Amino acid sequence: MSDSATMSAAQTAANNYVTTIFQKIKEKSPGEVEFQQAVEEFLHAIEPILAQDSKYEKHGILERLLEPERFIQFRVAWLDDEGKVQVNRGYRVQFNSSIGPYKGGLRFHPSVSASIVKFLGFEQIFKNALTGLPIGGGKGGSDFDPKGKSDNEIMRFCQSFMTELQRHIGPDTDIPAGDIGVGGREIGYLFGQYKRIRGAYDAGTITGKGLPYGGSLARTEATGYGVIYFTVEMLKSIGESFAGKKVVVSGSGNVAIYAIEKAQELGATVVACSDSSGYIYDKNGLDVELIKELKEVKRARIESYLEKHPTASYEANGDIWSIPCDIALPCATQNEINEAQANELIRNGVIAVAEGANMPSDLQAIAAFQANNILFGPAKAANAGGVAVSALEMAQNSSRMSWSFEDVDNQLQLIMQTIYQNSSSAALDYERPGNLVIGANIAGFKKVADTMISQGVL
Ligand code: GLU
Repeated sequence: MSDSATMSAAQTAANNYVTTIFQKIKEKSPGEVEFQQAVEEFLHAIEPILAQDSKYEKHGILERLLEPERFIQFRVAWLDDEGKVQVNRGYRVQFNSSIGPYKGGLRFHPSVSASIVKFLGFEQIFKNALTGLPIGGGKGGSDFDPKGKSDNEIMRFCQSFMTELQRHIGPDTDIPAGDIGVGGREIGYLFGQYKRIRGAYDAGTITGKGLPYGGSLARTEATGYGVIYFTVEMLKSIGESFAGKKVVVSGSGNVAIYAIEKAQELGATVVACSDSSGYIYDKNGLDVELIKELKEVKRARIESYLEKHPTASYEANGDIWSIPCDIALPCATQNEINEAQANELIRNGVIAVAEGANMPSDLQAIAAFQANNILFGPAKAANAGGVAVSALEMAQNSSRMSWSFEDVDNQLQLIMQTIYQNSSSAALDYERPGNLVIGANIAGFKKVADTMISQGVL
């Protein structure tokens, strides 16, 4: 995977190990390109620790880690408003439970496939380990498209989905939450059906719940705020801050909205955001309250922002990454920044990129940012705030308590600071100072891998 001419024997052994493992993954998961991409980034990043310690190879850690403990696929049949039968595919991957019960969101989007669920579940293992909280890695979802569906259709779909999923989950086994296409409304329907079938109020089985039935204050804000808290730490390392910076955020869902809100609170001007139809540009700074209303309440297209702000502009087919900015926060979806887009951001003077979405930068884009010394916060570290507060929601549920907004937000800040410190010191320990991709992957991997060794061959 890297230049072998100058390698030590240990480095060569580590390189051979990851090359063999990656070859096997490609053979065993043909066509699962997103999963292969997530694995490639990870394997390349952890090579320094494999070179330093042969125990991981001896214990077959990579072979085990890359094979999900369980992969569940099921039919979800439901009736649409015309009384017609619709069929979707449901998934749950229970990837790794060495440090805690499987934990991770559900994504409802037409692009959801085995490959997408596996890449997300794999990332989740290390992200969850980085939070410092006892949660394993899992993920799920469906190729169901909530867009354009009535409330009743959403409810019937969620009920059918949960009728199967419920037998696989529970507060000590597997705890789903939201992701793209799964927000407060869907979580409510999913939890209702779970409770009805199981006949027990296991609030801690799902996170991201509404406040009256066991949700946590600050869970809605957590992923977006967390991305900003992480970026604050990255900026501090070069004596910078958000004050006076120009920021571009892609997406306009839950992560994007609260990243915009917090960046503005810290004195930045966020000039653009997007949805799947295009992007809006407002040079005076986005009206985040209006975006919340459009997206969280009205479920409208981002273009309708212009009705209240006619001086802003809308680009249907434009590239949001061509807008010059100091800080870029990809918060939409996987592979939304390629090498050419990364290079354009760099040419336009970007100083920091932090990933609010999962795997939004492809491998070549990451390489371009790193080659140009751009501060780069990888998803599994930068967006861990959402799942971290989910774990705090579980703690509140099992203690029958609810904590104040400030309390949860303070804990979130501390968690994000610690993730940054652990990632940057792991990068330093393995002689790659500043490389948070290497640091985050190694810090997450070490915790999970050492636990797997101590628990025996499973
Ligand atoms: N879907 C979110 C993520 O990618 C949150 C998961 C959770 O809260 O369990 O981490």
